[in-house]
Amino acid sequence: HARPQFVVKEKRSAMENLYSISSFEDVKTSSYKLSVIVPLFNEESVLPIFHERLKNVLSDLNHDWEIIYVDDGSTDRSYALLGQLRADNPKVGIARFTRNFGKEEAMSAGLRLATGDAAIIIDSDLQDPPELIPKMITAWLAGADIVNMRRRQRSGESWLKKATAHAFYRVINRLSDVPVPADVGDFRLLSKRAVDALNLLEERNRFMKGLFAWVGYKHVTLDYDRDARAAGTTKWRYWRLWNFALEGITGFSVAPLKIATYLGLVFSSMAFLYALYFLVKTLLIGESVRGFPTLIVTVMILGGLQLMAIGIIGEYLGRLFIESKRRPLYLLEQYQPPSQSEDSVNP
Ligand code: UDP
Ligand code: MG
Repeated sequence: HARPQFVVKEKRSAMENLYSISSFEDVKTSSYKLSVIVPLFNEESVLPIFHERLKNVLSDLNHDWEIIYVDDGSTDRSYALLGQLRADNPKVGIARFTRNFGKEEAMSAGLRLATGDAAIIIDSDLQDPPELIPKMITAWLAGADIVNMRRRQRSGESWLKKATAHAFYRVINRLSDVPVPADVGDFRLLSKRAVDALNLLEERNRFMKGLFAWVGYKHVTLDYDRDARAAGTTKWRYWRLWNFALEGITGFSVAPLKIATYLGLVFSSMAFLYALYFLVKTLLIGESVRGFPTLIVTVMILGGLQLMAIGIIGEYLGRLFIESKRRPLYLLEQYQPPSQSEDSVNP
């Protein structure tokens, strides 16, 4: 499939062009295939409503499409439900992992299995409204390779989650070599070439938000209001989020490794000055044995810093260890691809 071409009425800034392409109606007439990738893990309560809403949006497109559900080792009825959805609609593909590998792995699998001219990654809990898909396609057709969806507000999430998420984006952007757009989740559209680029990355550390930024290309960001989960509960606990943040930081920055160097530098200069001070003081006034508090505090601070520095090195070393084993990212128990639709079958 060739990317459809559009006549942009006037030469304007990229962002304005996005809205100047005539209307979504015009876009409907060109031919392309859209892949929708849905990672899911134990979502039986929301899956049927989700599929219904997504299917409605997609059938309105008048275009070829496929939905690739990646079942990340669900232990509830999700997989059985998926089987029914596929029986009803051959455009549904189902990949099943042998166990729960994690959302990042599920998205990676979906990106490798997608065959469309563009791919959209969307959560299965309806927090990312499928109704926004036409807007994302419009932005893609206007020339964007990656359409990021920025959450203007997040309903139904605790303030602690929002606050930690906010802090996380600030930290990662300070440290990382590539800018990770704040408040952009995994809901996004990727052009075929951006998907191909992502599929080239073989690392085990799948901090996808960073990888999306890493591949570069033309990014466009659209704002939306994130809904509350339609049903079921979030799969993320704070400990998991913390580890996710660690993955992000260690995967995209070596700055923490340098902390030890600089702290060491600061403390040894302080120690040197302190030593000088004592030398002079002892020579001039003499020294009675005092200073136990100073001693214990110094020992504790230095001990703590050393442990922290070793811990940071350990975080990186551990990841190096995991990368070096070169295990596959995930294992598929089964893949039932979407059956080819009429216009993509070769004669
Ligand atoms: N998910 C997954 N594997 C996991 C955890 C979550 O595929 O190990 C899926 C989940 O089914 C949902 C999406 O990732 O479609 C987002 O998960 P969730 O809603 O629990 O996260 P939150 O929106 O709270 O960040
Ligand atoms: Mg959610």
